[in-house]
Amino acid sequence: MGKITGFLEFDRKVESYAPVEERVKSYHEFTVPMNEPELKDQGARCMDCGIPFCHSGCPLGNLIPDFNDAVYRGKWEKAAKILHSTNNFPEFTGRLCPAPCEEACVLGINEDPVTIENIEKNIVETAFSKGWIVAEPPENRTDKKVAVVGSGPAGLAAAQQLNRAGHTVTVFERDEKPGGLLRYGIPDFKMEKNVIDRRLKVLEEEGIEFKCGVNVGKDITGEELQNDFDAVVLSGGATIRRKLPIEGADLKGVVQAMDFLPQNNRRVDGVKSFENEILATGKDVVVIGGGDTGSDCIGTSIRHGATSVSNFEIMPMSTTERPEGQPWPFWPMRLKTSTSHKEGAERFFSISTKKFLGDKDGNLTGLITSQVEWIKTPGQRPQLKEVPGTEKEWKCELALLALGFTGSEMTIADQLGIEADDRTNIKATEENYMTNVPGIFAAGDQRRGQSLIVWAISEGRQAAYHVDKYLMGESALPLKGEGDLPRV
Ligand SMILES: Cc1cc2nc3c(=O)[nH]c(=O)nc-3n(C[C@H](O)[C@H](O)[C@H](O)COP(=O)(O)OP(=O)(O)OC[C@H]3O[C@@H](n4cnc5c(N)ncnc54)[C@H](O)[C@@H]3O)c2cc1C
Ligand code: SF4
Repeated sequence: MGKITGFLEFDRKVESYAPVEERVKSYHEFTVPMNEPELKDQGARCMDCGIPFCHSGCPLGNLIPDFNDAVYRGKWEKAAKILHSTNNFPEFTGRLCPAPCEEACVLGINEDPVTIENIEKNIVETAFSKGWIVAEPPENRTDKKVAVVGSGPAGLAAAQQLNRAGHTVTVFERDEKPGGLLRYGIPDFKMEKNVIDRRLKVLEEEGIEFKCGVNVGKDITGEELQNDFDAVVLSGGATIRRKLPIEGADLKGVVQAMDFLPQNNRRVDGVKSFENEILATGKDVVVIGGGDTGSDCIGTSIRHGATSVSNFEIMPMSTTERPEGQPWPFWPMRLKTSTSHKEGAERFFSISTKKFLGDKDGNLTGLITSQVEWIKTPGQRPQLKEVPGTEKEWKCELALLALGFTGSEMTIADQLGIEADDRTNIKATEENYMTNVPGIFAAGDQRRGQSLIVWAISEGRQAAYHVDKYLMGESALPLKGEGDLPRV
C-alpha cells in the first residue's frame, strides 16, 4: 500500500534518458538509473485505494500494491519474491511493457499514476545484483516429458512453470539462440541481450534443455514430437508479416522490418557479414507503420546514420489525453511518442503509400503518397477514403514495412490436424489452452495473434497450469488471480 500520504507528498518520477546525441552512438540501453530514496518515494505513492484496479490492468495479475509497499519499506528481497510469484521475467516487462497497469491505477484518475513498470524493473535488477535470483530446480521429477516449440516469452514462461512442476522440458527453437522477438525483434537499445542470457542461464541450471537451430515441422515432424513427448506447447509466435501489395513493392530497397531488425540484432551480437546487407546509412528512410516495430526501425536507422527518417501512419494522430469512449481503467489509444521518435524522425499521420518508384536497375528511389480520411458510418467499420489532390512524391532509398503480422505459420498445425481460425491463430480457448488435438497446447502470439510480452508470459503460465493438470490430473502451479502472497 505504500505510505498513506505518499501520493500527496511525492510527484511521479521515472528514469530519465541519456541525451539523444550521446545515445544514438551505440546500441546500449540509455536509461539513467534512479537512486534508492527516489524509488522508495515512488513506491510510497501507491495509496490504500481499496480495490487495486492495477491488478486487473496487468495481464499477469501482478500484486502491485504489495511490491510497492515492500519497496517503500526498503524490503527489496520481499518485493522480488512477490513480483516473481506472478511474473517469471520482470526484467523483460520492466523494460518493455506498455504498462496497462498504470492506465488502470486509481491514482491515475486525477493524478499521474504510480510508476509501476519502473519499480518492477528496479526490483528485479536489485534482485539480480544481490544474487537473489538463483536456479530453483524441482525437488522431484515426474516421468513426463514436455516439448515447447518456440523460445519467446510465452515458450520460456511455459517451460519454467512446467519444469517447476517436475516435468522434463525441452524447448525447440529454430533460431540460433533462444528468446524469440525479445532477441531478434526488439533492438538492444531497448533491451540488451545479456538480460535474456542471464535469465536463460537460470532456466538451464533448473534443468530445461534448449535445442536451437531446430525447425519443428521440418527437422522434426509434429508426429515425431507427439510420439516422443507426453505434451506439446506450441508457442511459435505470429510470424507472417503483413505485406504492402502496391506497384513497386518488389524494388530493391523495399524491405520488411522483420528482415531489417533481426539482421541488425545479429550484427550487434557480432555477426560480421550478411548475404543481403540492409543498411540505412546515408539513405532517406521511410518507415511505414506507426507501432512498436516502426519505432524500433526508426531508432535503428538513426543509429545506422540515415540521412533522414520519416514515419508514416495510416491512422489519424491520436490525442495524448484519454479519448472519449475509453474511460479509466481501460487501455486508451493515446498518441505514443517513443524514445526513438524523439531521436530525429518526422512523423506523418493519415497518410497512405500508393506506389514505390525505382530506377532502371530496380532500386527504390522514392514513393508516392496521399492523405486519407476515415469515414465513420454508425454501425459500420470506418472506411478509408483518399483525399483528392493530396498526392505527394518523396525521395526514399529504403522503405521499411512495419505493418504488423497477419497470423502464425501452419506447418506443424497442418501436420497434426490442429485447427486455426481464419487469421491462422491456433484455436485453443482460455478454458484450457488445449487445441483440438489432445495433449497439444498453444500459447502466446501463435494463439492470440500479435500482442505483447506481458500477454505472452501470462499465456505461457496459464497454459503450463493446464498442461500440468492434463498430465497429472491436478496442478499446484499458480493460475492468474489465484494463489496467496508468497511467504517472505
Ligand atoms: C520489432 C518488435 C518490437 C516489439 N516491441 C515490443 C515491446 O516493446 N513491448 C511489448 O510488450 N511487445 C513488443 N513486441 C511484441 C512482442 O515481442 C511479442 O508479442 C512477443 O514476443 C510474443 O511472444 P511469443 O513467445 O508468443 O512469440 P515470439 O517472441 O515471436 O517467439 C516465437 C519463437 O518461436 C520460434 N519458432 C516459430 N516457429 C518455430 C518452429 N517451427 N520451430 C522452432 N521454433 C519456432 C521463433 O523462431 C521464435 O523464436 C514487439 C514485437 C516486434 C516484432
Ligand atoms: S507486467 Fe506490465 S502491466 Fe503488469 S505490472 Fe508490470 S508493467 Fe504493469
